[in-house]
Amino acid sequence: MTDTVIANSTHVARKAHQCDHCSQPINPGEQYERTRAIWDGSPGTFRCHLECRDCARKMWKMRDYMWDEGILLSADIEPEDHEWIREEYPIVAQRLGFAEGEGSEDPSP
Ligand SMILES: [Zn+2]
Repeated sequence: MTDTVIANSTHVARKAHQCDHCSQPINPGEQYERTRAIWDGSPGTFRCHLECRDCARKMWKMRDYMWDEGILLSADIEPEDHEWIREEYPIVAQRLGFAEGEGSEDPSP
């Protein structure tokens, strides 16, 4: 079963969306990636934060997953992934709710 990507583009949100990776809001003015594709035979649109996309992509590579296996951050990460995500993508860890020192430090530049 292969998903067919029809279009893949980066947008600035004009209204609020929900990230399909972390389930957190994509606020107006934030950049997000929109992918139109055929998922398991039916057309759909996938929206996500750019950091969430990068994080998921890196995880695919590290684990040798195929594109059509995919990783959904909110569903597919394991507890042992938390540390890696906290180090590499602290903002994603924050969105997913396992950031360290929640609120006490700001890791983003
Ligand atoms: Zn996200």
